[in-house]
Amino acid sequence: MRTIGLLGGMSWESSAEYYRIINEEVRRRLGGTHSAKSVMYSVDFHDIETLQHRGDWESATAAMVDAAQRIEAGGGECLLICTNTMHLMADEVQAAISIPLIHIADATAAAVQAAAVASVALLGTRFTMEEDFYRGRLENRHGLDVRVPGPDGRTVVHNIIYDELVQGIITDESRNTYLGIIDGLTAAGATGIIAGCTEIELLVKREDVSVPYFPTTRIHALAAVDWALSN
Ligand code: GLU
Repeated sequence: MRTIGLLGGMSWESSAEYYRIINEEVRRRLGGTHSAKSVMYSVDFHDIETLQHRGDWESATAAMVDAAQRIEAGGGECLLICTNTMHLMADEVQAAISIPLIHIADATAAAVQAAAVASVALLGTRFTMEEDFYRGRLENRHGLDVRVPGPDGRTVVHNIIYDELVQGIITDESRNTYLGIIDGLTAAGATGIIAGCTEIELLVKREDVSVPYFPTTRIHALAAVDWALSN
């Protein structure tokens, strides 16, 4: 078994899910007392979130590169950046380390393609929904048809992530708000939903959604287990 490197803390609410899912899956596959070999470096999300909202992507990239190098030095044999948003600088991070970065959008695209979903809606932070690093990668590299909510919907989805989900606040009201936005997207033709922020699946579960649902934390974590057990 190879050692999974996890760059966590963005937020720790979802990093804990990564740790749980990875270990549950290794036990499910290998049985008995087996668990995953892993190393995690967890940042202070306050610092990262401040840089994001200030638009200081240069400093945010430096922080991600520093953390990734610590993970490699600590024995991680692959790298998972445990957030969709901070894949914005995935190329720079990959260039600064010699272990492979398992990209969350690539793992997610593979799941969407395996489910033969023709038109998928993407929910996530404003950065993930609007910038090219994520939506563009799904469209251009993987050929997916990707939709996002309109401007007001994007603001609501983004604000609930930062004001509630990353702070561990899960409410029925926000779940209903998300489900209303999802209903609007499916009525407009989306036939699948990507929970493209690692905390969304804490709020909206697979059983809440009537079309195929792609929870990126679970998909990314399982891709890492595939990789760790593949040699
Ligand atoms: N965890 C979230 C994501 O998957 C948002 C937190 C962040 O900005 O990194 O995008």
